[in-house]
Amino acid sequence: MDITITQASCADDYDPNSMPVEKARAFIHRFLEPVTAVTKVPIRSALGRVLAEDVPSPVDVPAHRNSAMDGWALRHADLKPDGETTLEEIGASFAGNPFKGTMKAGQCVRIMTGGVVPEGADTVIMQERAPASGRAITFSGGNRVGQNVREAGEDLKAGSVALRRGRRLRPAELGLVASLGIGELPVYRPLRVALFSTGDELKSIGSVLGEGEIYDSNRYTIHGMLTRLGCEVLDLGVVRDDPLALEKAFRDAAGAADVVITSGGVSVGEADFVKGMMEKLGEVVFWKIAMKPGRPLAYGKIGGAHFFGLPGNPVSVMVTFYQFVRDALLKLSGRDPVPVLPTFAVPCTSALKKAPGRTEFQRGVLSQNAEGKWSVRVTGEQGSGILSSMTEANCFIILPTDQGNVGPGTLVEVQVMEGAV
Ligand code: AMP
Ligand code: MG
Repeated sequence: MDITITQASCADDYDPNSMPVEKARAFIHRFLEPVTAVTKVPIRSALGRVLAEDVPSPVDVPAHRNSAMDGWALRHADLKPDGETTLEEIGASFAGNPFKGTMKAGQCVRIMTGGVVPEGADTVIMQERAPASGRAITFSGGNRVGQNVREAGEDLKAGSVALRRGRRLRPAELGLVASLGIGELPVYRPLRVALFSTGDELKSIGSVLGEGEIYDSNRYTIHGMLTRLGCEVLDLGVVRDDPLALEKAFRDAAGAADVVITSGGVSVGEADFVKGMMEKLGEVVFWKIAMKPGRPLAYGKIGGAHFFGLPGNPVSVMVTFYQFVRDALLKLSGRDPVPVLPTFAVPCTSALKKAPGRTEFQRGVLSQNAEGKWSVRVTGEQGSGILSSMTEANCFIILPTDQGNVGPGTLVEVQVMEGAV
């Protein structure tokens, strides 16, 4: 790394008190160095892991010239261009059971989908277009040379790259490597992420709540999002707002993981407290992001570990995770390129309250009407503590910085949540 976090944060156009979403994201990305350790795993266990090396195809796919249809294999030159031609059927080629003889002029071979196209044949005519009478098969004109023939290597040539490193392995990739006869794949080791919640008011499930106390929910949403992203999670529980306890938690977390994620303790009053500690333990920047929800955010390094200090409010935690942590973790996991979440415009049926000055991530429900047209409505209350706005939602409605109130029927940009984590 050629520049430190604190050096980078001293750039002229850098305002920690009003940090645009895009700028914070780009800033973080400068410091992300992906994992390098590689292990080989059987292909079934590779599902969801990140491929660590290019996979060259050891063979041509398909390996043989074969038929794309049930029909007859023949020589195109035997066919009259625009009249009927009758050829003699001399055998059959089934998938896995090829025709062994040699085809001569005036002859054809019955062939099934996947059957090897016999030596001498160059074209397949589908059975629906050729009336058969015993072994005499009549073909009409108008055929193209090579039609319905899949050439050897037309999908993949031997030696060419079948899969590029950096992609997450899905069922399609497992099937493709299986079709090449490959049983194991090199994958990156999973990212280890330690997390803890901060706050004197937080209680764990199972304990009785005293006045002003709440159950810790952030650890569960963060655990869920990390698991969905394929991370190994190290849950360090709840840490009191106490300097000694926090310092120990930060040290333990950074010593055990690639990434440390905390919630709470980064809002104005509390940040001072954590800031002092960070001067001792690492290098961290504290931002007020120009976004809603999720204003305070801290990012930096503690020892070798990346640190994301998320806000305390449960919706802010999820929104900042989706918008900053998700793609950082994908990059650290070895994803290359990091897939950008698509957004698209749909009409919004609700009136939205929005003040210019910050990017808002309101929670929305995308649905289809009886005519099949998609639109979005906002979920009810949009407060940053109202987690039911996330459970009801299936998308974010992203309202750009300069946007004001939105009238019903206006096109708005949405980002689907499913599949994002
Ligand atoms: P903080 O950023 O620590 O000031 O927290 C902001 C708000 O989020 C407060 O109302 C906290 O009680 C709440 N909060 C903080 N951490 C959690 C948590 N782990 N689970 C649920 N609510 C939390
Ligand atoms: Mg707190």
